[in-house]
Amino acid sequence: VPFDDRDGWIWLDGQFVAWREAKVHVLTHGLHYASSVFEGERMYGGEIYKLTEHTQRLFNSAEILDFEIPFTVAEIDQACKDTCAKNGLTDAYIRPIAWRGSEMIGVSAQQTKIHVAIAVWDWPSYFKPEERAKGIRMCWAKYKRPSPETEPVHAKAAGLYMICTISKHAAEKAGYTDAMMLDYRGYIAESTGSNVFFVKDGALHTPLPDCFLNGITRQSVIALAKSKGVEVVVRHIKPEELSSFTECFVVGTAAEVTPVAEIGEYAFTPGKLSLELMDDYSKLVRRELVPA
Ligand code: PMP
Repeated sequence: VPFDDRDGWIWLDGQFVAWREAKVHVLTHGLHYASSVFEGERMYGGEIYKLTEHTQRLFNSAEILDFEIPFTVAEIDQACKDTCAKNGLTDAYIRPIAWRGSEMIGVSAQQTKIHVAIAVWDWPSYFKPEERAKGIRMCWAKYKRPSPETEPVHAKAAGLYMICTISKHAAEKAGYTDAMMLDYRGYIAESTGSNVFFVKDGALHTPLPDCFLNGITRQSVIALAKSKGVEVVVRHIKPEELSSFTECFVVGTAAEVTPVAEIGEYAFTPGKLSLELMDDYSKLVRRELVPA
């Protein structure tokens, strides 16, 4: 079903509007100049996992892009919950987004109105369940994550997803599920929509998030692993080191914990630690496991 032709309600600038009526003008600044920041959250059994952390990140992203969201964090938290309730969902993916409107078009857009919308939908699994079981196949992305001196890399901003969509499309056209992106120095960075972990001798290794999103799921998985007594090494990882890792998985709100079978010339087998963390994370978000 196309995303603009559904039943339900979207929260737009403080009010609910019918899903099909939640539209913007073609001269929206956010569309032309990527003045747009967004979030991705999940509700599990009636509760949004790390809701305030996500809302806070939305506000931080907006501030980095020099715009002020005309609501408080508490108001957006409440609006996320209300939008799920209004749509009758207790398990849902939640997409808040803030962008500059159409009052001005051009690089300067000081007088544009800041809009905020929240849409929610049923999105059980980002990757197909059969792929998750075997581990997804990834190729290398053509583009590299830019330096913090080149882009505001810690904002979850629409503009930073240009290279993600290009890379993901290229991967899919070549028969892969996703692409692994290196950073501007050639270190392993992240996939097009999730962070990455590797396993070696019972320890987890994950790239230092100094030029990409330090995902909320990534932070949860690090805490989960440490609570199980698993060593977590956060460091720069070179692509050629991939031959020394036995397991690999990606993590993110949409992806949750998904094993990886292949990155380019390197193969992995979803193993004990990946499967345990996949299970622990799924229990944690459903409040069946008390965080340490
Ligand atoms: N990296 C990218 C590029 C992403 O889009 C996401 C998803 N927001 C993540 C990492 C993971 O972030 P989180 O765990 O906060 O969803």
